[in-house]
Amino acid sequence: MKNQDLLGLSSANILNAEFEKKYHDVIAHFFSRNPKYWPIFQDKTIQSITQFRKTTTNDKDQLQRYSNGPELFERLMSDTQVQQHINYPENDPNELLMLVSTLCKNWENPLAVENVIAMPSDPGVYGSILGLMGNPNMVYCEYSGIADGLEKVTIKKVAKLVGYDPEVASGVFTQGGTMCNLYGYLFGLRKSMPNSKHLGMAADQDYRIINSQGGHYSNMTNLALLGVDVDNKTIRIKVAEDNTIDLDHLEHELRACFTVKCKVPTIMLTTGTTDTFGVDDVKGVCELRDRLCEEFEIPVKPHVHVDAAVGWPIIFFLEYDFSGNPLAINDATLEGLRENVEKFKHLKYADSITIDFHKWGYVPYTSSMVLVKNGNDFVALENDPENFTYFEHELEGQTHLQSTIECTRSGVGIFGAYSAMHYMGVEGYQTIIAHCLQNANYMRHQLLEMGNAKVIVPQNQGPSVGFKLYDPNLVKDPNVAFDLELTCSTDKDAYDFMVHNTQWHRKLFLQRGREGLFTNWVDSIACSKYAKNNRYVYIPGEKAVFMNPNTERAHIDNFLKILTKMSQNQSSKKVAKI
Ligand SMILES: *Cc1c(COP(=O)(O)O)cnc(C)c1O
Repeated sequence: MKNQDLLGLSSANILNAEFEKKYHDVIAHFFSRNPKYWPIFQDKTIQSITQFRKTTTNDKDQLQRYSNGPELFERLMSDTQVQQHINYPENDPNELLMLVSTLCKNWENPLAVENVIAMPSDPGVYGSILGLMGNPNMVYCEYSGIADGLEKVTIKKVAKLVGYDPEVASGVFTQGGTMCNLYGYLFGLRKSMPNSKHLGMAADQDYRIINSQGGHYSNMTNLALLGVDVDNKTIRIKVAEDNTIDLDHLEHELRACFTVKCKVPTIMLTTGTTDTFGVDDVKGVCELRDRLCEEFEIPVKPHVHVDAAVGWPIIFFLEYDFSGNPLAINDATLEGLRENVEKFKHLKYADSITIDFHKWGYVPYTSSMVLVKNGNDFVALENDPENFTYFEHELEGQTHLQSTIECTRSGVGIFGAYSAMHYMGVEGYQTIIAHCLQNANYMRHQLLEMGNAKVIVPQNQGPSVGFKLYDPNLVKDPNVAFDLELTCSTDKDAYDFMVHNTQWHRKLFLQRGREGLFTNWVDSIACSKYAKNNRYVYIPGEKAVFMNPNTERAHIDNFLKILTKMSQNQSSKKVAKI
């Protein structure tokens, strides 16, 4: 049975006792800040911080709950000058630092399901602290020492999970997924247009950068940074209904480029879009590229970079025994995972990949890795050696010193990522990721039961659940209403209907004000059908992202109860139209 049909079945969305047992074991060992397992959390200050944060109270009520909170906060905000005297640490566990550490946005709170952000795991924090202590500078192996080796083996581990040849693959940890995507663009630019290194973008010849309309905004902001003419030299490919890149449109545009000898340095794809978990067909795109490059005799193929910032942890399931199902994952989620695995198996066709450990990998900020199928690609990025006069030339060849965008690079993310993978292993990651996906599917299942909710692209089996709520008296079938809204780029009545429904949902969202679950409002939870000249309209809605290991079914049930009650109270007296 297809995953979408399974979503409607209660029996396919149960919590198996065996799974629960494994889940609780992983939570106890890796997400509880328990000094019994992690003595580094023994410190009194740290204990008081973590204890305070074990709560479901709303973020905005935290200051009141904290002893002298408002007064301390006022002191903090007026503390704008370095004082003359020394503060000896033995007399001064700093109250203000503690205040902020305790009260900054609480991602441990089981109700926190905003966006693709999560609390770091215990081993992630532990590893990061060890990295902080050693403080290697990853710019260059003489300044990082053997931490350089830690980066190399960590990259090899992930390369193997993806299915790359670990002896040929390479990569660097860098400052966030945005920077990883910047590397992705740069690989293509420097390979296709080597002169751009000295002469800039306009020097060489005509080119077009290709990405998808479903991509993260960094897909665009990076281009401006690189000096790409964003309006005239960037082609954004249309997306299909499930927010994945439209291969026909891509082929059409590639042909148009190659026909007039216009270079295409980079094609940027996404596996797991931020809001709707669209997974692009990486293999399909690479095969299309290869076929057209052969046909048009293109000497340097477009570099295919895949932004897997959010989606990458699905690779922990590539070898999962789906028939034996040793973790006892429920049917709906098992099927969803199986479908995702088929797509993520094709990650290995990409030339490079963005991987954010600090999102669904449960490692502290920032711990992003750009993974490269062919380590030789770094050669194209090398800057002229005379720029590097103060480094030992003999060692330079062993590192990516001359190819990195940064100079100083932190090693903290490497330690955090290594440690999280070491302790949790494939099975620990599988357990926590399956838990998140079971939560997401349970939420979808419950929303479907409500009767006045539309679940956005339920077949996209990621942690994000996008939905729209409708006035139950105005709309009898949310699917019909949503289908009508999808025509809003060509039909004025449909547009007005969409705006009316959005206002109704938005009002309910605002009135609820962070109750039950802390969700987000998104201005583009879905995209209308295309009108002439590929025009489209974004349709707003709400989303909950289930990356939080602490969120459980009772929290989702409570949230749904609130939604149902508010929907009824706010329903109009009008008679149903749709
Ligand atoms: C978060 C995200 C990014 C940006 O990564 P940062 O680590 O926040 O810089 C890029 N692409 C996708 C799909 C993302 O979800």
